[in-house]
Amino acid sequence: MNADTTVQNATTEPMTLAFDVTVTAVQDLSPNFRRITFGGYCLRGFGVSGRTLDLRIKLMIPSLDSHGRPLPLPSFNTGDAGWYQEWLAMDPSVRGSMRTYTVRNERLDSVYPEIDVDFVMHFDDGAVETTAGPAVNWALAAKPGDSITIIGPNNRAAHCITAETYSGIEWRPGLAQRVLLAGDETAVPAIGAILESLSAGITGHAFLEVPEAGDFQDLATDADVEITWLARGASLGRSRPHGELLKQAVRGAVPVPGWVGITPLDGAAGPEPEEVNVDEDLLWETPLRMDAAAIEASRNPNLPAGALPFYAWIAGEAGVVKDLRRYLVRDVGIDRKQVAFMGYWRKGKAEL
Ligand SMILES: Cc1cc2nc3c(=O)[nH]c(=O)nc-3n(C[C@H](O)[C@H](O)[C@H](O)COP(=O)(O)OP(=O)(O)OC[C@H]3O[C@@H](n4cnc5c(N)ncnc54)[C@H](O)[C@@H]3O)c2cc1C
Repeated sequence: MNADTTVQNATTEPMTLAFDVTVTAVQDLSPNFRRITFGGYCLRGFGVSGRTLDLRIKLMIPSLDSHGRPLPLPSFNTGDAGWYQEWLAMDPSVRGSMRTYTVRNERLDSVYPEIDVDFVMHFDDGAVETTAGPAVNWALAAKPGDSITIIGPNNRAAHCITAETYSGIEWRPGLAQRVLLAGDETAVPAIGAILESLSAGITGHAFLEVPEAGDFQDLATDADVEITWLARGASLGRSRPHGELLKQAVRGAVPVPGWVGITPLDGAAGPEPEEVNVDEDLLWETPLRMDAAAIEASRNPNLPAGALPFYAWIAGEAGVVKDLRRYLVRDVGIDRKQVAFMGYWRKGKAEL
């Protein structure tokens, strides 16, 4: 993940701040999801103007060697964009690890403000060989009273920080009336929060692939979006490969040819997206991150501008997201300014 958290706006207010919060509750939602609630009066200074949608935050996970001592963090709150390099240069056994998570719920207007973060307890995926990382180990041991630092939006800059302008929110459907949301378990918190924000009249599909049926959740939405849970079957000892069900489901909901009203030429409806080596580079391609020239260069020449009031949001394991990117852009011909592709994690690779 890029450290994109200290972008400063035109005013002197930093867009993001570090917040020292306390664990106030730990709740196992399902076999593979643990909700941790963070509270603190400092969270009065946290937030964006409007809904949090897929708002990401950074958790500064203490190293095992820190023995509960506060981390010697660099000066985040000065808005100094050099803090990330300063932090990286520290001894990892001292600085701990930085991990990216989603704000699932916020109760920032309460007397004691809180946010919920839902952790996928990924060491427990019986069928896939995974190792637990610092975040999941921390979540496993977390108990009320524990302290942690999170990095998130500074609401004093909130007049500039809205879902449309804050770089930690990618959901930008514009005027789309038809949506596609697809993600694995790490994207469930974001998809859940996005669905809650959608109004009646929006149609489409949401596909959520999780380890087992026990992980299905009740998600609320006013929209006419069909929500489909897909279970790999981890608890049954015959887990499907990660992403297989998700890829099938997206292909079923967005079939070729002709879905966008164009006839594919030479088997390809749109341009071949540039190759991304997901083992080396972050797969993070969203309209927000593409400059105007890149958007223009990637425009599907077969598609009249504004032809389709459609928006897709795809997140999860980077290899799976890459497959869906190729399918949606090249085979279906969806214009890239109408899709956000986000590799939330990469199999076999720890977040830096
Ligand atoms: C914008 C964004 C939002 C995110 N929101 C959430 C969220 O709300 N909840 C959430 O649980 N995750 C979320 N993630 C994913 C989370 O950041 C990663 O899963 C992260 O790697 C977990 O850190 P770790 O220290 O546990 O494991 P790491 O030290 O990063 O990795 C250790 C090993 O575990 C593997 N691994 C990592 N994650 C998984 C997984 N989910 N399943 C199987 N193996 C895995 C890695 O490939 C590696 O081999 C989000 C990621 C991004 C970029």
